[in-house]
Amino acid sequence: MDNPLLAPTGLPDFAAIRAGHVEPAVEWTVARHRETLASLLSGAEPSFASLIEPFEEASHALARVWNAVQHMNSVLDGEELRSAYNRCRVLLADYHAEVGQNEALYRACGQIREREATGLDAAQLKLLDNLLRGFRLAGVALPPEQKQRYRELMQQLAKVQSKFDENVLDATQAWTRRVTDEAELAGIPAGAIARAAAAARDRGLDGWLLTLDEPNYVAVLSHAEDTTLRRDFYEAWTTRASDRGPAAGRFDNSALMEQILALRHETAQLLGFASYAELSLATKMAASPDEVLAFLRDLAARYRPAALREFAELERFAGRPLEAWDIAFFAERLRQQRHSVSQEALRPYFPLPRVLAGLFEVAGRLYGLAIEPREGVSTWHPQVRYYAIADRSGREIAGFYLDPCARQGKRGGAWMDDCISRKGFGGGAVIPVAQLVCNFTPPVGDAPPLLTHADVVTLFHEFGHGLHFMLTTVDYPSIAGISGVPWDAVELPSQFMEQYAWQPEVIPLISAHVGTGEPLPAELLGRLLASRAFHAGLSAVRQLEFALFDFRLHAGYEPARGGRVAEVLDEVRREVAVIRFPEFNRFAHAFMHVFSGGYAAGYYSYKWAEVLAADAFAAFEDTGVFDATVALRFLDSILSRGGSRDVMEAFVEFRGRRPDVAPLLRKDGIAA
Ligand SMILES: [Zn+2]
Repeated sequence: MDNPLLAPTGLPDFAAIRAGHVEPAVEWTVARHRETLASLLSGAEPSFASLIEPFEEASHALARVWNAVQHMNSVLDGEELRSAYNRCRVLLADYHAEVGQNEALYRACGQIREREATGLDAAQLKLLDNLLRGFRLAGVALPPEQKQRYRELMQQLAKVQSKFDENVLDATQAWTRRVTDEAELAGIPAGAIARAAAAARDRGLDGWLLTLDEPNYVAVLSHAEDTTLRRDFYEAWTTRASDRGPAAGRFDNSALMEQILALRHETAQLLGFASYAELSLATKMAASPDEVLAFLRDLAARYRPAALREFAELERFAGRPLEAWDIAFFAERLRQQRHSVSQEALRPYFPLPRVLAGLFEVAGRLYGLAIEPREGVSTWHPQVRYYAIADRSGREIAGFYLDPCARQGKRGGAWMDDCISRKGFGGGAVIPVAQLVCNFTPPVGDAPPLLTHADVVTLFHEFGHGLHFMLTTVDYPSIAGISGVPWDAVELPSQFMEQYAWQPEVIPLISAHVGTGEPLPAELLGRLLASRAFHAGLSAVRQLEFALFDFRLHAGYEPARGGRVAEVLDEVRREVAVIRFPEFNRFAHAFMHVFSGGYAAGYYSYKWAEVLAADAFAAFEDTGVFDATVALRFLDSILSRGGSRDVMEAFVEFRGRRPDVAPLLRKDGIAA
């Protein structure tokens, strides 16, 4: 077989993979997976060894192909690749639905769980429990009529959720602001102005055309000196897809929001849950809706006094009462006046090679790792390098690709993805291989990329995800690394690692001026550290407002009363928010995370994981950020265990108690 995607072992030959390889490889692997599953299920008495392990093996082989395809589609341009990818994505979604509804597999898993309850270890039992839970949440155990209804609900939900997205997108694209007098653009960064000039030229207009995409919205709200321009942008943005604002009623999501909440509630009830919030928590670390609500309200009560203080101070600074569209603008000015630390001015101190060397040094001191680049590995682009990770004994335990800089055709943002998952049983152990992708500003000529400190934090964050994935010691791919880790705990290792990018002990390791080699001067470092908690109260109450709104919407839904979207939002704002919202504000109508994305009754996860990460990091406070004993306990209890154990249990083992919010409050400068 000469399809590089189908090489069964070793690193993928990325340089050799072409769009034409994608469909044959995916189709062949899915067909093999289906055959394998059928033949496994035809055996007499299925056991963990005769069914589950080969099933894991087959799924590992399928993921190996699909991970490479997905990855190539994210980092490379190309119409041919994109359409092959999209066709395969549909194929795989259908296949996963087919497996999720496979009753024979479900029954077999249940039998194995019962028969081998005493013979299997905790990780194997967790794997089986996850599988069984997944089946139940896919409706496999329902009687035929209800199963049919479940499928209808899923189809309808998919339809209305994508219509919700479409409306937001259309509403965003429908509004533009044309500017002919340059004075109106005063304060807006040059990059955004250049984009606006290009947008006008593209449409044969003179002057500037500001579209309503997020970077423009942020640039205008934070920097435009013209109050009317800010207000217009704010109104257009916060009324998108609603009954108000410049496009009132044209893309109105009101009815869809009601439908989405009703469909979710019915799905939850069908599966035996009281609410969609309970269904959401079935796969998360938080135990009950009450626990989540109490968690959010407790944090709101603690952050609110600081937020009120910050807001009052901001109004004093502005010299007048502030409207919603004034806040980001004056906050930006206050930040500059107080901290005068410019991310651009920090760049020369953070050349990428130095940052990487420091990051690897941190990983070495914490976990005894040695990380070295490896030459001659086939990659998807000349800028990409492969690094091998060895443990204390020199044994190679993992590897990762690093694709650091932005380029044409590469998806924006930063992420860590699995290329190959760890597998430690059956025919030959496989070490985990990750992909770390960032979009740093590309260097000019032969110079190294120069990072802002925000970039450095991003790199540490993704590397934290990477360590979670690569340092796993779990043998079964479906519970190794980040697989099977609850949504509200998955950001623990990444946010934990972020903290290192802020430590005075770490800065000299990761900074060296590109011209002089000197580390970041103490005075600049002091200003950088002082700016860290700027407006922590205001930004926390905003996140808590989103989280409480989302959670209450799903926990308190009653069919007879409907979604009560506006009422719940008003109640939450009265409880949590400190700024005044204009009557026309319809932010919920474009809240895609919750109405069409994966964060329904799960937006709280951001704060939840932040608390875990800050508390885990605080374990190092007494003995120092490089204490190898504490690091080893973190590795053994949490980092290496992936989804193989209950996260709360793991956390309690590491910390000797349940999570405490105090370290996060301290980091944010809030009195506990
Ligand atoms: Zn993350």
